Amino acid sequence: MRLLVVEDDLTIAEPLRTGLLREGFEVDLVDTGAGALAADACDLVLLDLGLPDLDGRVVCRQLRERSNVPIIVVTARGDEIDRVILLELGADDYVVKPFGFRELVARIRAVLRRAGGNEPQAQPDVQIEVGLLQIDPRTRNVSYDGRPVALTPKEHDLLVYLARDPDVVHTREQIIKDVWDENWWGSTKTLDVHIASLRKKLAPETIETVRGVGFRLVDSASSP
Ligand code: CA
Repeated sequence: MRLLVVEDDLTIAEPLRTGLLREGFEVDLVDTGAGALAADACDLVLLDLGLPDLDGRVVCRQLRERSNVPIIVVTARGDEIDRVILLELGADDYVVKPFGFRELVARIRAVLRRAGGNEPQAQPDVQIEVGLLQIDPRTRNVSYDGRPVALTPKEHDLLVYLARDPDVVHTREQIIKDVWDENWWGSTKTLDVHIASLRKKLAPETIETVRGVGFRLVDSASSP
């Protein structure tokens, strides 16, 4: 597994590289946003937001626009970074400095695990159809009423999760646990943001809120 570490503070970057090498990762280290955008393909990006040349958020968004590579954002304590904005930029997780090395490695492994086998393994090649919604898990293409829909990786994962069991109510806790993981920021606001975005991109009635319980995907074409 090859990690790209984007960090301009060498007192952090060097020991981090040493530790990650010891954990068995290959590590490419760059100290600028431009370096991150010019780097070779990798399996995961650890991205410090406070970079000398470019706004880390811009780097994050550009990396995400180019690929589905998992991104863990590193922020400084006290940064007024809205977590929701990080999600919209396409980050998969984040850590706040100062972070423990063990915690970081656990997060890296969790994000890599999710990226490698996020979707349920049963029937991976079968096209999913619920009413006007069509998902091809092989190509990750999604269309609604014949119109292609562009989703972020997390929106896609959430939609596939709900669409594999249409009409079934999934609790917020279960969704967070299965689509993100238990440690995900401890807030379910993340989930609401993704649900709202999917409703906007598909149709508002596609995902139903079951008050006090959770959400379910419904066949909106056949609803009254
Ligand atoms: Ca920095």
